Amino acid sequence: MQLTRGEQFINSLKDGRKVWLEGKEIEVTTHAAFHGTLNTISRLFTMLDEPELSNQIGFYDTAQEKIVHNAFLLPREQADLRKRAAAFRIWAEHTNGVMSRLSDYARSRLTGWYATKERYHVYDKHFGDKISRYYEEAKAKDLFLTAVQREPQVNRSQAIGDDPDAILRVIGKNSEGLIVRGAKMIATAGPYSNDFIVYPVTKIPENHPEYAHMMIVPANSKGLHMMCRESFAELRNHHDYPISSRYDEMDAVLFFDDVVVPWERVLLHDNPEALWQIRMNEASSSLAYHQSIIRLQVKLEFVTGLACAIAESIGVNQFLNIQEKLGELVNQVQTIKGLIIASEVEAKADEFGNLIPAFTYIETARNLGSRYYPRALEIIQTIGAGGFFQVPSTCSEIEGPLGTYIQTYLQGASLKADEKVKLFKLAWDLVGSPLASRHKLYEQFYAGDPVRNLAGQYVNFDKDKMIGEVFSMVRSS
Ligand SMILES: Cc1cc2nc3c(=O)[nH]c(=O)nc-3n(C[C@H](O)[C@H](O)[C@H](O)COP(=O)(O)OP(=O)(O)OC[C@H]3O[C@@H](n4cnc5c(N)ncnc54)[C@H](O)[C@@H]3O)c2cc1C
Repeated sequence: MQLTRGEQFINSLKDGRKVWLEGKEIEVTTHAAFHGTLNTISRLFTMLDEPELSNQIGFYDTAQEKIVHNAFLLPREQADLRKRAAAFRIWAEHTNGVMSRLSDYARSRLTGWYATKERYHVYDKHFGDKISRYYEEAKAKDLFLTAVQREPQVNRSQAIGDDPDAILRVIGKNSEGLIVRGAKMIATAGPYSNDFIVYPVTKIPENHPEYAHMMIVPANSKGLHMMCRESFAELRNHHDYPISSRYDEMDAVLFFDDVVVPWERVLLHDNPEALWQIRMNEASSSLAYHQSIIRLQVKLEFVTGLACAIAESIGVNQFLNIQEKLGELVNQVQTIKGLIIASEVEAKADEFGNLIPAFTYIETARNLGSRYYPRALEIIQTIGAGGFFQVPSTCSEIEGPLGTYIQTYLQGASLKADEKVKLFKLAWDLVGSPLASRHKLYEQFYAGDPVRNLAGQYVNFDKDKMIGEVFSMVRSS
């Protein structure tokens, strides 16, 4: 019997990878910490086999003679951007915007570099062929990819090169490939990825080429160890933790113990300038963050719906101060939605004919998200207040000896006690659980340091006209 794409994905993870949780090596496909998350992802992958959904999420790829995910679609016209957006939205809606690294982000990065591959010919004449072959392989095998770009926090005040262990580095080369030693963080979804796209986003100085590489590293590479953080899903049941139990995207640190990366998977090496151009590639960033901000919009919609439901359930939605806060959440949603539309409408064709969403709006939405999300959580906490602690420890207690008390004293203005308890449990999972804290930090930091991201917007923005207007008045008065 033909396996679904979800089943094929799960099977692909039984490949000898080294995943560590609570000090033990584990098998991700059978461990309780991954059960809910892998079920969710499996379901998303299988959508590509279902006639009513496959055409919304994917496109027929003539090279592979099958439907592949729209994250691989090279946008040539507005309709292509809409197709990409629709696919991102469907997966995001299926996961309430909570799961951010479903491989559509990293696949989009790959698509962006592939679409502009000629630019890198000057740095390495094999880049174009290698990335083309990998792009085809990723489509053929529906590979789950994760981009890992950052260095572990050791001493941020050191200069690059002060501590050789602070950045992943090449310690040797042989006929098979590069030999790599060091660590990378954070690899969200790492334990169930097929491959990692590994490269630095820090600017590497010209005198340290040993740090300047772009590699596609198979998750089962010999010497690669993935160290998971604690699980937020394990021991959390679906009724009391509907988010944690299904959507916990595991984060991991990757340790490279002299991993040999085959030459075929070394896209660029020993070249700081080439790596900086990879980092600055607008097609890759725009296509990937286009997914991120669509996912953000869906998440903010879910949070807004939750805030409204809580306010109504306890009858505070009529108060002006609460309405003002709910209005702020609506504002967040509409602002991100508007910026997504602007990025698509003002998309421009590059020299290769790719229609790239306008990065300035994408960047604005992304940077706003790092402030919006913590504020949205604060609003829900302010509205729900002590209500989060007026619930039994498990939903099942409504059926227990205290059931009558719960039904009588814990009902809401518009809800019976059982639904109100479930609503507050759901909200707590999103605003107060360990997963909730992780998500607050994720939205703040997933795209790098929010402070430097905003400062970068100021530095790179073309301000001449605005400043010119000021001086024309100063000088004419
Ligand atoms: C849950 C989560 C999941 C993530 N998943 C991924 C992933 O899958 N792939 C990926 O590539 N990245 C991922 N990231 C992003 C990434 O790993 C980092 O968190 C991000 O780049 C910020 O770096 P840092 O956390 O090391 O903070 P640091 O850079 O160490 O910053 C710590 C603090 O010091 C300040 N600071 C540090 N250096 C300076 C400086 N030079 N000047 C001024 N201020 C400074 C910062 O403003 C910040 O407040 C994820 C992040 C989180 C939180």
